[in-house]
Amino acid sequence: MKATIAGQMLELIEGNIVEQRVDAVVNAANSRLAGGGGVDGAIHRSGGPAIMEETDRLYPEGCPTGSAVISGAGRLPAKFVIHAVGPVWSGGKSGEPELLAGAHRRSLELAVEHDCRSVAFPAISTGVYGYPLDLAAGVALSTVISFLRESGRPELVRFVLFGRPVYEAFASKLAEALQAF
Ligand code: ADP
Repeated sequence: MKATIAGQMLELIEGNIVEQRVDAVVNAANSRLAGGGGVDGAIHRSGGPAIMEETDRLYPEGCPTGSAVISGAGRLPAKFVIHAVGPVWSGGKSGEPELLAGAHRRSLELAVEHDCRSVAFPAISTGVYGYPLDLAAGVALSTVISFLRESGRPELVRFVLFGRPVYEAFASKLAEALQAF
């Protein structure tokens, strides 16, 4: 599914984040930048040890929840990995929506600061972190749409969704969001 927002492309695909030929791929990282399963495991496995070496050196304190940091992409076909730290879902009254929005916004800011024209996001926080899929899709999409409207960059934001149910949740939220505008 594709939409044009302020002249830029917003795209949803079902696929694997590590295979994306974009300037930056976003990792669903943890705040210690310690590696893990899911997206994080796949990125470090495919990208090789250079990514962790760089984040250990540049960000020994890790990255706060709701924010993001950037590194090279090792052997991945991207130029950069943006390590975004989404919140763990704990019922929705602990600032989860603001933190999830912050992780997306900071990722986009870093992408623009590094002249990335294309960025691929996974569905941050919807795996081990347990964020309800529909709610996460709504926050992720509305944050990206607002950013594209405000800054007119990057040229392409692609959500790479792992499995049909995740894709369908994002597709129905995007259809809703487009109708609302
Ligand atoms: P979090 O800890 O932020 O919840 P996870 O990596 O556990 O992050 O999961 C986030 C989302 O990414 C889930 O929807 C999961 O199915 C999906 N996912 C897992 N592996 C990949 C991959 N290789 N590419 C894209 N998405 C993936």
